[in-house]
Amino acid sequence: MKYVIIGNSIAAAGCIEGIRKIDNENEIIVISQEPYHIYSRPLISYWLSGKINEEKIYYRPWDYYEKYRVKPILGRKVERVDFDEKKLYLDNNDEIYYDKLLIATGGKPFIPNILGLAKKNVFTFIKFDDVKAIDKAICPGAKAVVVGGGLSGLKAAEALIKRGCEVTVIELAERILGSILDDEGAKLVQNELEKYGIKFVLKNSVIEILGEERVEKIKLQTQEEIPADLVIFSIGVVPNVDIFKDTPLKINRGIIVNTKMETNIPDVYAAGDVVEAFDLILGEKRVIPILPNAYIQGEVAGINMAGGDFEYEGSFPINSIGFFDIHMMTGGIVNPKEDCEVLKRLERDRKIYRKICLKDGRILGFIFINSFDRTGMIVDLMKNKVDVSGFKERLLLDNFGFLDLPKEVRREKIWRV
Ligand SMILES: Cc1cc2nc3c(=O)[nH]c(=O)nc-3n(C[C@H](O)[C@H](O)[C@H](O)COP(=O)(O)OP(=O)(O)OC[C@H]3O[C@@H](n4cnc5c(N)ncnc54)[C@H](O)[C@@H]3O)c2cc1C
Repeated sequence: MKYVIIGNSIAAAGCIEGIRKIDNENEIIVISQEPYHIYSRPLISYWLSGKINEEKIYYRPWDYYEKYRVKPILGRKVERVDFDEKKLYLDNNDEIYYDKLLIATGGKPFIPNILGLAKKNVFTFIKFDDVKAIDKAICPGAKAVVVGGGLSGLKAAEALIKRGCEVTVIELAERILGSILDDEGAKLVQNELEKYGIKFVLKNSVIEILGEERVEKIKLQTQEEIPADLVIFSIGVVPNVDIFKDTPLKINRGIIVNTKMETNIPDVYAAGDVVEAFDLILGEKRVIPILPNAYIQGEVAGINMAGGDFEYEGSFPINSIGFFDIHMMTGGIVNPKEDCEVLKRLERDRKIYRKICLKDGRILGFIFINSFDRTGMIVDLMKNKVDVSGFKERLLLDNFGFLDLPKEVRREKIWRV
């Protein structure tokens, strides 16, 4: 039996650890086009800001591959997979056979097709090599334009401010962090970020990058021009499925898998940002590109690849993130379109915002800014679809806790005490 994993990130780590729960004997090969040991993408902005050194960016100890008896093939791209022959073709013409394959190729940055992209100092913000290249391009006072006011765009902006750059964030939507915050939450966070010097241009986009060889200015949709020494595109990620086009692998937006993380092709599994997983709140499959999902899906795939029997029940997006001294946790649906009950508490002076969206007494989503004690309980109530009607006002309080729950909920639904 030979296990092969394409990808060497968190879904791959989950898979390796899942396989080794059952099978301690057979060979595992991990292939990644990046040359690094397993590292954390969420930490690349902290490396760029100088908060952590390179050693801290790696998820697993140096003897990990040895301990788990994994053969890593790093710095090599898989160019093609022949599912009939069970064979992978690498960019150095090597061919590798598999008995069981995990596709964990993650996401790739979405870049709009605009003029001037090929100029020097245009970057994306997803890989360790991206921030290493940005590090070389910046100096205090450098003018940076970040395209995209989502999570990773703002993490890039924060890191650049900490490195002494002048930063402007361009966001197409009316507010920053559009997928995880509502208007009030976004305004609160934007106000705080402005205090640290980040400038925002909302409801606008970049249509051209200007300059001779390197970036000198960007042109906005409104024809305005902004001087820039570097531009970082951080608009979002899309599943990295390019090498599977024209194969029988079933792909919608991401690779389609069942609850065992099996694809439509025998002995081929997929996990992480490259798949569509079941969203427990929306009740449909979609790409949920967050780290804990990738690990659990990889682990489930690994256990099943090794002959075990495990299912991935699904999840929903949960984000825990901070910028400077403002911290937030959000989850599920926070801008409900349908008729929902919305509970809110805003304390501008303490920079606290709590919002909970309810439908038929069940929590659909939440935003907690600078006040997120007991968020784990809220997530449990969501997952277990507990009817919170009887104690909903308590959910907004800082000191909401276990004793606020009705006895039967405590006993049966969640903690089974
Ligand atoms: C800046 C940033 C901040 C983030 N912050 C958070 C956060 O705070 N919380 C959170 O939950 N999530 C966060 N995320 C998302 C999180 O990092 C991803 O959900 C997670 O990394 C997905 O893991 P993965 O294993 O599916 O794929 P990825 O991490 O995308 O890894 C894909 C792997 O596949 C390899 N690969 C791809 N194609 C090939 C090929 N053809 N041949 C060989 N190798 C290939 C790559 O080299 C890589 O090793 C953040 C992401 C970024 C970029």
